Amino acid sequence: MKYADHFESLQIEPIAGPSDETAGANGGSELSLDPVNWRQFREMAHAALDDALDFVQTVRERPVWKALPEHVRANLASAAPITGQSLDQVYEEFCENVLPYATGNIHPRFFGWVHGSGLPSNIIAEILAAAMNVNCGGRDHAAIYVERAVLGWCKEWFQFPAESTGLLVSGTSMANLIALTVARNACLENVRKTGLRRQERELVAYASCEVHESVGKAFEVLGLGACALRKIEVDDAFRINVAALRLQIALDRAAGLYPFCVIGCAGTVNNGAIDDLDGLASICREEDLWFHVDGAFGALCILNEELRDRLTGIERSDSIAFDFHKWAHVQYDCGCVLVRQGDLHRAAFSMRPPYLEDMHRGLAGGIDWPCEFGIELSRGFRALKVWFALKEHGTLKLGQLIKQNCDQAQYLRSLVLNEPRLELMAPAPLNIVCFRFRQEGADPEALDCLNEAIVTELQLSGVAAPSTTRICGHLAIRVNITNHRTRYADLDLLIGAILAIGEAHLGE
Ligand SMILES: *Cc1c(COP(=O)(O)O)cnc(C)c1O
Repeated sequence: MKYADHFESLQIEPIAGPSDETAGANGGSELSLDPVNWRQFREMAHAALDDALDFVQTVRERPVWKALPEHVRANLASAAPITGQSLDQVYEEFCENVLPYATGNIHPRFFGWVHGSGLPSNIIAEILAAAMNVNCGGRDHAAIYVERAVLGWCKEWFQFPAESTGLLVSGTSMANLIALTVARNACLENVRKTGLRRQERELVAYASCEVHESVGKAFEVLGLGACALRKIEVDDAFRINVAALRLQIALDRAAGLYPFCVIGCAGTVNNGAIDDLDGLASICREEDLWFHVDGAFGALCILNEELRDRLTGIERSDSIAFDFHKWAHVQYDCGCVLVRQGDLHRAAFSMRPPYLEDMHRGLAGGIDWPCEFGIELSRGFRALKVWFALKEHGTLKLGQLIKQNCDQAQYLRSLVLNEPRLELMAPAPLNIVCFRFRQEGADPEALDCLNEAIVTELQLSGVAAPSTTRICGHLAIRVNITNHRTRYADLDLLIGAILAIGEAHLGE
């Protein structure tokens, strides 16, 4: 027991818990939720941990995904429990109705959307975080310092200054919302008090038309409206057209609007395109605009020296949003927001009513409580799983795995280009390959249907799980590789399966 070395005992007369044999007269009548029999509970917990580890270790032997059968859906829609049951029974139900029906993103042939594949050692971190059950909204305890350490590392990666601030959040959607709130508040006086009612400035912002919808949603939530986000056309590489951006800014200024922000994409969700971030940083400096980068997965290319250059300019941004649960493989959920000017970040969210006052010393001490930098007050110990992941694997190896995924995407791209029955539909600069199965003489709609059918059947077969998107209006099979378990052979298998399903359709 290593942890015991670090603990002190409290030198006062102990009070027994209700389930201890030494409990006093009222020991039996006072309620608690702790196990009545810790020894039994411990056995069950160890067994559950073994099951969890088996689940991960044997993932390759199972289908990527399995649809929930009707009876399982019905089981899960059961009535609210009034009286409890044994933990064994609950666990049994979980094993029957929940565990077999996961998303599948821990599987080496899960290629849908942008999902991380998770880390076995994060299971340990999650257990320990659950045991501590700390509230990371604030106060003076180790978890706050762990989060601060993680944020410090992030600042270092992106060359952000010491006075910059950050927060671990649920994901890039929340990170975008927080960053854009700071950007909005920085140019609207008193907006925290008066809201948008008495504002003379009509704010508008810019991003490429490939920008993730979470950015649009942030504009809706911020009360600026989706129309305030101008979607700028992209070039052949799906990167923002910088000339078109300049033009739109000029047009908007001429029309009396108030441009305040540009959102650069570091890895678009459709095909992984990275905008010219340095160019955007320069425009923002000239035009006095906030420069935010949505780097949900792409920002972590900073961890690989061969990929890092593609992000040049990100170090000049005012804020960055990215995820640990995607390309750093940290367990869901965990994203991060960084803000260059910490004072603006704090000014956007800080709120210390009397019941949260800083006491300088004691548990309520410590400066810069995380709740002053975001929306949530109570928050879990997300930082621990990131801390474990980064300490165990180091940024060098995590960066190598990002590069490996990019190399695998290039391999897949070449398989597609060398296969006459397939057609590449977009550039594949990073880790995402969009293509489709060809059918001679088919009209566009029929082709869309065919490719959608291929993806659906592939998912239902459990062999592999890509997703779909639309490239220039046409349905594409979209293969995203943010997976440290994927091997080159998995990509051969994927293409083989797509061709087989496609051929079977043509034969019908
Ligand atoms: C995934 C993603 C988001 C949203 O991040 P969440 O972690 O799902 O909230 C935003 N932008 C891009 C480019 C993404 O890939």
